[in-house]
Amino acid sequence: MGFEKYMPRASWEKLKSHADKLQTPLMIFDVQGIDGKYREMTENFPGADIYYAIKANPAAPILERLIQLGSCFDVASRFELDRVLELGCPPERLSYGNTIKKADDVAYFYQRGVRLYATDSERDLENIARNAPGSRVYVRILNEGDRTADWPLSRKFGCHNELAYSLLVQARDSGLEPAGISFHVGSQQRDIGAWDAAIAKASTIYYRLLEEQGIKLSLLNLGGGLPAHYLSKAHTIATYAREINRFLEEDFGADMPRLILEPGRSLVGDLGVVVAEVVNVARKHKNDLYRWVYLDTGLFGGLMETMGEAIKYPIYTDRTLEQTLHADQEEEVILAGPTCDSMDVMYQNFKYSLPLDLDPGDRLYFFSAGAYTTTYSCVAFNGFPPMKEYYIN
Ligand SMILES: *Cc1c(COP(=O)(O)O)cnc(C)c1O
Repeated sequence: MGFEKYMPRASWEKLKSHADKLQTPLMIFDVQGIDGKYREMTENFPGADIYYAIKANPAAPILERLIQLGSCFDVASRFELDRVLELGCPPERLSYGNTIKKADDVAYFYQRGVRLYATDSERDLENIARNAPGSRVYVRILNEGDRTADWPLSRKFGCHNELAYSLLVQARDSGLEPAGISFHVGSQQRDIGAWDAAIAKASTIYYRLLEEQGIKLSLLNLGGGLPAHYLSKAHTIATYAREINRFLEEDFGADMPRLILEPGRSLVGDLGVVVAEVVNVARKHKNDLYRWVYLDTGLFGGLMETMGEAIKYPIYTDRTLEQTLHADQEEEVILAGPTCDSMDVMYQNFKYSLPLDLDPGDRLYFFSAGAYTTTYSCVAFNGFPPMKEYYIN
């Protein structure tokens, strides 16, 4: 059946047997699945270091498992830092990947043993030189490929090539180690060509620094952007890896720097399912073409990435999990959340088809919802508590 495209039957049956006993809304996650996802990364990108982007899902069971597997981590705040250190991760496995940070934050990271920092501006670099002396820094460059990402990231981050070049020189001159270049092609980037352009840009800086300054960069950080499985089709990780490794070979050949990957979505997205309940099904007038289906969770309950209908989760009901319905048994709907904010509509332009006999109390399953859901959930908008999360071994 359809859902097996998104999650193996055995994993789903394990999760569902737990979810059936729990109150919605919730996110339920297959912790055992992490091993396979991590292995997929290391096998497809041999030699690359995996820095899991904690923001995708910072739950302790996920971090613990990744620490055991030997993963490194991309940390964006002192709060994420405290969390991952408390769970026993050595600071040598951490990178401070956020280019937006206070001088105090840098000092905090340095004091706790972190020696690898991202930057994209002069001020920030000065802060690093002052508060994290002698550390390794990499400079994030702007990325043009954002248009083709389902969840763009990079307009806000990174700097132009010229500035990247001079920041790396400035790093050396201020006693830091100019370590390399990073980029992020945008999250859920379905155009592999975005990596081609970014790697080519990075290599130009790499060779110019070597020739003109005698600076040899040692690392290249390829960021995130690898896909999870949603409705909009994306290539497999193996296909991404084959192409990305080819781009790297073309541009760096024998001079290959050490590679860093920062997967977030692609490591944990497919392992979680959001379970919601139908609150009401209504038509706005007698002859309305579309039913409105109101759920007990929505944009403010963790489904933030449905904003602009950017991410289209595969959605099932108990009925459609096990059978494909005939066209006359289902009908297109508009899906909305429970809060008193008219922005709280998940899908209106893109129409999901749901069974005609869908009733209040029925459950909806949003597959591939293990990343960027739980932490996006509001604390108490309209009094609704944050989405509950369950991690199943
Ligand atoms: C969010 C983020 C990532 C993870 O991106 P995904 O597309 O979820 O893999 C990686 N690196 C940085 C710097 C990020 O901010």
